[in-house]
Amino acid sequence: KEELNIIQGALELRSKTVEDVLTPLNDCFMLASDAILDFCTMSDVMQSGYTRIPVFENERSNIVDILFVKDLAFVDPDDSTPLKTITQFYKHPLHCVFTDTKLDAMLEQFKKGKSHLAIVQRVNNEGEGDPFYEVMGIVTLEDVIEEIIKSEIVDE
Ligand code: ADP
Repeated sequence: KEELNIIQGALELRSKTVEDVLTPLNDCFMLASDAILDFCTMSDVMQSGYTRIPVFENERSNIVDILFVKDLAFVDPDDSTPLKTITQFYKHPLHCVFTDTKLDAMLEQFKKGKSHLAIVQRVNNEGEGDPFYEVMGIVTLEDVIEEIIKSEIVDE
């Protein structure tokens, strides 16, 4: 029974897209690029429980960096280090995909390494103005795997 579910989940990777599984931007735990890594900010990060934190400039839809929680290993909250100092030191590459990316293609990209988190965007050509890229949310390897095994992975 369970095997059958997994096979079905795997077959559906060809038809489903990242839009079906992404975590919407509004639900993302993020930091503003001008944040200061004081005790308060660092405990928020720890309490969020996430390992990768998108960093935005001015508005949440403008993601400019990713902070890995492990980047904070040598940061002393008493130093009130600006977040920028850390992100500019590590410069983790941003990995962007479009909403219509099929989950099998997404899985391949994640398997190739780089990052296991991608920023999902779409081309917004509604309205009067020129079309523009609009960030919809984030997708991780876990979101794709959950689609295969068809059940929530409960985090540690
Ligand atoms: P983590 O290692 O941080 O637990 P996972 O890659 O295991 O992250 O993803 C677990 C779930 O949490 C996925 O649904 C993913 O989309 C979501 N997620 C990952 N990072 C964040 C974040 N910074 N804010 C909100 N949701 C996130």
